[in-house]
Amino acid sequence: MGDHVSAIDHGDDRQVVDTLCDTVDRWAARHIDARAIDRAGRIPPQVLAALAELGLFGLPIPGSYGGGGLPLAAVCRVISTLARHDRSVATTVGLHVGLGTRPLVAFGGEALCARHLPLLAAGKRIAAFAATESEAGSDLSAIRTTATRTDAERIRIEGEKIYVTNGALASVFTVVAATPSMGGASRGHSLILVERDDRGVAIGNEEHKLGLRGSSTTPLRLDGVEVGTDRVIGLAGAGMRHLRHVLSWGRTVMAAGCVGAAETALSFAVEHVTTRRQFGRPLAQLEVVREQIATMAALTRAMSAIVAQTAAVEEDHEALAVRSTSAKVFCSEAAWEVADLAVQLHGGAGFIEETGLPLVLRDARITRIFEGANDVLCAHLGAMELTSPPARRIVGDPDADHLAARIGERRRELLDLHGIRILSRQRLLHGLGRLVVLREACDAAAAGARTDGTPEARRLAAAFIDLAGRRAAAFLEDPPPIAQTIAISDAAYARPRP
Ligand SMILES: Cc1cc2nc3c(=O)[nH]c(=O)nc-3n(C[C@H](O)[C@H](O)[C@H](O)COP(=O)(O)OP(=O)(O)OC[C@H]3O[C@@H](n4cnc5c(N)ncnc54)[C@H](O)[C@@H]3O)c2cc1C
Repeated sequence: MGDHVSAIDHGDDRQVVDTLCDTVDRWAARHIDARAIDRAGRIPPQVLAALAELGLFGLPIPGSYGGGGLPLAAVCRVISTLARHDRSVATTVGLHVGLGTRPLVAFGGEALCARHLPLLAAGKRIAAFAATESEAGSDLSAIRTTATRTDAERIRIEGEKIYVTNGALASVFTVVAATPSMGGASRGHSLILVERDDRGVAIGNEEHKLGLRGSSTTPLRLDGVEVGTDRVIGLAGAGMRHLRHVLSWGRTVMAAGCVGAAETALSFAVEHVTTRRQFGRPLAQLEVVREQIATMAALTRAMSAIVAQTAAVEEDHEALAVRSTSAKVFCSEAAWEVADLAVQLHGGAGFIEETGLPLVLRDARITRIFEGANDVLCAHLGAMELTSPPARRIVGDPDADHLAARIGERRRELLDLHGIRILSRQRLLHGLGRLVVLREACDAAAAGARTDGTPEARRLAAAFIDLAGRRAAAFLEDPPPIAQTIAISDAAYARPRP
């Protein structure tokens, strides 16, 4: 375990985490070359070794297994710091400490944890997570990979996973498999630990991607892999329940990466508009440019606030599920918006790889898709809001509270009009989910400004809440009639394909 993390064993003390982030920041500035990683399509082994030396692969793993034992909030700050320098590096570490090792930490039995966590904490082994299959992406209930009992103590796994982050680096995979013969009455899916060296495991070729090219993404074949039943992580048959918590964690860590990316894009943009002169003055003096920079700054601060607010409910699994989903959707879209505005403000230079900005934009795109496509998550959020709306405290910001009240009215309106049938009206659920995301972001922005207490923080929060209120207006009304939408999409489907 690296000195930097072991020194703050169990600590969530802000100052100590500040010091760790500062160390990571300075180290990354000297040793991470994002464009070289992008071109090579891999992270140099010496960078991975240094990340391990810094203790970053063990950040949240309990101290008893050699990890840093850090809370989610601290992990998020470190991942966000790494993401400022390179998203592939942040994703490699973030996946390891999120979806990769969280199943073991949260649900693993003592023997399994003792065998794997010390090596995973030290970064001597890397973890991956494999749920997606060619026919099971957003719909994980369609998973075909199956583990069946061969006798009382052994199971046999057959199936093929795709898009496994860290696939080429990992020695340990948490596989989501259907386990129809296990779990008694609660039979369903289970999380199973598979090792790279298990007979029948085959890692496929690297995918060629739009972005995150330094982060490994491969298929994983499981061809009659036989392992002991002691490889089941947590309860047999409870895989989907466990998965909910693991995804909540993973999404929060991923949202933190989005914050780092937005901070980088914003600083690129500020640097450019203050130095580039057109029409006899710096771009920074133009009103429209000022407004765009203000939007970017307000969004970036709100992203940071929603991640902090989400990580703060780490122990409350129900609250974490709603907040992490909102944080993932909000931060992935805001990071894209901020990166896109940064490209725009650079003019032609924003399109040239050498500036480094196209990489930030390309890397940002996948976060709206992986760990749950945003539109799918919004529909889930809408359904959750209808069936079990979270108890909401008044946040004390009149605009944020007004928006929340309007969203509450919209919820009641939908229920009065459609009753329980609303749960099959996907567009309405999706719209309600979008409102939930904006409400959670506004609440977080208001709370963040209050904690910070500076006039600048209050201004940024007010600007964001105003923007969110205007964006929410589109979802507070009914969408255009579904018959019209169906007619238009049918016509598009009927058009000959080029
Ligand atoms: C680089 C990369 C890394 C990844 N890493 C991992 C990993 O480590 N482990 C892992 O298990 N998976 C991983 N994934 C898979 C990722 O989580 C899935 O790609 C994602 O969940 C979407 O599934 P899909 O690609 O099958 O899209 P589909 O399910 O086919 O959906 C395609 C699109 O249809 C729309 N859509 C689908 N369903 C709905 C709905 N109900 N409502 C509204 N719109 C809908 C959305 O726009 C969606 O984006 C990774 C993917 C990539 C590209």
